[in-house]
Amino acid sequence: MRKLWQRELNKFLLICITGGILGWSIDEPWAGAFFGLFLYVGWLLLHIKELATWLENPTLDNAPEASGLWGKVLDNIYHIHRKHQSRIKKLKKTIEISRLSTNAIRDAVVLINPDNTLEWWNKAAKHYLGLRRSTDRNHVITNLLRDPKFVSYFESGEYRNGINISSPINTSIILHITLSYYSRKNRILIARDVTHLHHLEQMRKDFVANVSHELRTPLTVIKGYIETFLDLITPDENAGLHRGLSQVQQQTERMEVLVNDLLLLSKLETGASKAALKPVDITALLQQIYHDADRVNDVKKHHITLTIDNQTTLLGDVSELHSAFSNLIFNAVKYTPENGKIDIRWWQNSKGAHLSVIDNGVGIDPIHIPRLTERFYRADPSRHAKTGGTGLGLAIVKHILRHHEGVLDIQSTSGEGSNFTCHFPSRQLVS
Ligand code: ADP
Repeated sequence: MRKLWQRELNKFLLICITGGILGWSIDEPWAGAFFGLFLYVGWLLLHIKELATWLENPTLDNAPEASGLWGKVLDNIYHIHRKHQSRIKKLKKTIEISRLSTNAIRDAVVLINPDNTLEWWNKAAKHYLGLRRSTDRNHVITNLLRDPKFVSYFESGEYRNGINISSPINTSIILHITLSYYSRKNRILIARDVTHLHHLEQMRKDFVANVSHELRTPLTVIKGYIETFLDLITPDENAGLHRGLSQVQQQTERMEVLVNDLLLLSKLETGASKAALKPVDITALLQQIYHDADRVNDVKKHHITLTIDNQTTLLGDVSELHSAFSNLIFNAVKYTPENGKIDIRWWQNSKGAHLSVIDNGVGIDPIHIPRLTERFYRADPSRHAKTGGTGLGLAIVKHILRHHEGVLDIQSTSGEGSNFTCHFPSRQLVS
């Protein structure tokens, strides 16, 4: 490059000096040198014009040719241009592939701008969500998908769990919608057809609800007869028969509790309406459960304390809250060996209201904690024969909290004790 530059400078000086010598012959050396400079600039302008014309339509066939420094400049521009062209080609190919692949996806995919307007969507979005390219681009998504469940999910900004809604163009199609952020505030919506799964799930719920309901009457009849038989036979008359009947009575009562828990769970799963929520005096409710727990504390003699930091009225269903809180408190009683310590505490802060039930009982191995709220999941199956629970308690607690927009947090250390905390958001508090 330095050589080329040197040669170009030499060429320039040579033209100017030759012009100067020729001008000297007519006593005008400066005019001659200036004429040489003029010729050089003219030559440069000619090349610039050629370059400008070529840059308007830069193909290989019409590329300008030159030698020396100017030729090098043209060569470099030509190579940069070729690289740029090949990058554009690759980019176009990538865009085309992603367009074809997203169109081939069976799930609806919609890209949403930070101002909530639609940017782009695939073919399936037209089929499931009824979006039309001609009219819906740049429209606000919540004006097109107006389902209140979707609107509140979209506006919440909390997209960890998706939601199920009916398709706006065909209500028999159930869609599972998930939103995620990509590149700062842009969002991607994915809608999957889960109609089949939804029907299966509905069948399962109906089956459990129906079976539980149907079992109630025969259980009541069996219970009634057993009570009558036990009244008729005293242990002195027939000790074996009396013992047998007492065991049948115990198991019937367990079955009744199980059936009632299953029915409650089905009711909670089928989505009890928010309209049923009324102001609940938490202090009165907790004191009632505390006294019930204290009453059954004769055998284990735990030290149970109840601390209420704030008098709270919570928007809720009193019988559901009773069921959730007593499940946690009675579990603490059940899973804490004699003379244990159980602290029940209710408090409020800027995030909402909270109930913690802390015991120094058997505790739970951390591997079990994520699955504890599944039905019939037990951390220690061998223990449940002794405690006699249904295995549905924490599943019920989870559903009740969900109905109250709350969450359950479980902290536990095996052998040291557990801390079950219910968190309710501020919007559930009645001021
Ligand atoms: P169960 O009827 O078996 O008590 P739950 O759903 O109420 O069913 O609880 C599920 C499991 O969680 C229990 O079987 C037990 O292993 C564990 N668990 C619940 N509460 C406690 C607690 N306070 N301490 C230790 N383990 C507990």
